Amino acid sequence: MPNKVFIHAFGCQMNKLDAELALSALRRAGYEEAATPDEADVALYNTCSVRAHAEERVYSNVGKLKSLKRRKPSLIIGILGCMAQKDGEKIFERLPHVDLVCGTREFPRIAELIEEARRLSCARRSSGSAKSRADRVLACSEEAAVSEAREISVRPNRRRAFLGIMRGCDNYCAYCVVPFVRGPEISRPVAEVVDEAKRLADDGCREITLLGQNVNSYGKSFTPSARALADLLARLDKVAGLARVRFITSHPKDMSREILEAVRDLPTVCEHLHMPAQSGSDRVLAAMNRRHTARGYRDLVALERELAPGIAIASDFIVGFPGETDAEFDETAALLRDIRFQNSFVFKYSTRPGTAAAKLADDVPWEEKRRRNLALLEIQAAVNLEENRKFIGQEAEVLVEGPSRRDASRLTGRLRTNQIVVFEGPETLAGELVRVRVESATPLTLAGTRTMDDGGR
Ligand code: SAM
Ligand code: SF4
Repeated sequence: MPNKVFIHAFGCQMNKLDAELALSALRRAGYEEAATPDEADVALYNTCSVRAHAEERVYSNVGKLKSLKRRKPSLIIGILGCMAQKDGEKIFERLPHVDLVCGTREFPRIAELIEEARRLSCARRSSGSAKSRADRVLACSEEAAVSEAREISVRPNRRRAFLGIMRGCDNYCAYCVVPFVRGPEISRPVAEVVDEAKRLADDGCREITLLGQNVNSYGKSFTPSARALADLLARLDKVAGLARVRFITSHPKDMSREILEAVRDLPTVCEHLHMPAQSGSDRVLAAMNRRHTARGYRDLVALERELAPGIAIASDFIVGFPGETDAEFDETAALLRDIRFQNSFVFKYSTRPGTAAAKLADDVPWEEKRRRNLALLEIQAAVNLEENRKFIGQEAEVLVEGPSRRDASRLTGRLRTNQIVVFEGPETLAGELVRVRVESATPLTLAGTRTMDDGGR
């Protein structure tokens, strides 16, 4: 009987890609996927350590497996990814029922590491000895291997894929643990990315989102040219079957005119950027080591809107960074109101050990962080509603993804600018580009009716 593995990924799309990477290595080793830890021989948790809250969720979720492990002692439980890389040995102290801790750089060896954990666990159980540290496997190499650059894509549905084109980060923003847990920035070769995009398109995928922590510096590890991402987009634009390409996340300091011209000129490249501003205060931005100013950010957005009118810009923000005053927070709120982002992800600052900001006092009280967080979300929701209402009465191109999860009698799809649209139509439209007249809007969704000038398929 083949081994069964359950795998759960906490955190962002990059983490989901990592989980896929581990899963595909395990499939090659003969594993099948299990739907729950109860059905599995191996339960793996790919972790995120970007924020303290994400780590607490891992401890709480994996902590609950204690009773399952008691009932089924042969179950191998593994913690993978960022948190494993960062905390290593310490995880065994808080989660004594865990058998394996495997850092981000050891994924290619995952099947081998599981076998080692299983061997140690079996030997201990047959000898009847008490569990000790020596029965567990810790693999958290510090060396970054070139082969680590992503070779894998994640598909939320048959029509869309997230494709990792680089990993790691060299930016060392003061609050961020990513450069420590994921290592230096390494880009995948162009030919490899294009081949993978072709395979996805041949398999029915119509939209690809390229992923990287700092995607607009793609290629830095193999070429001095600032054009690498623009050139890659031009190659992907020619892949037969692909209708749309997006790329996230863009760092404002690395946004180039060449990339924006690619957005303007290439039919498949969507008018949609995720370009985190993080704060609207120059003092805070400098303390965050972001290497851009609020003015610079505003000017860049103006250029983006000039080159690609209607372009949607999404952002991340951190509230309650050490020393952030009310006045500095107000500058962030003003930026949100002025720019009118398509979406904002707002995070309460949490100290990450080892980062530069960890040396600063985390002096904004939690309640105040919460207040600032809610205030930004409120501004964003109002902007979303106003902006989405502007679509009412307009017709737009929608890439159909399939039946809506909320209401299976309707279809869901996206605009080039990433807004979600629901409308009625047959499931056979999945993967097609159709025209929809928008009739109503909420802050998160548009709803409408398909017009017949898409051929009425
Ligand atoms: N590389 C991307 C960039 O530079 O924008 C995003 C990387 S990070 C995984 C996603 C977001 O998490 C960041 O944009 C930031 O807003 C947030 N973040 C990172 N470290 C954080 C911390 N210590 N506390 C709160 N939010 C944090
Ligand atoms: Fe973290 Fe900054 Fe790198 Fe983004 S660019 S991953 S926030 S260090």
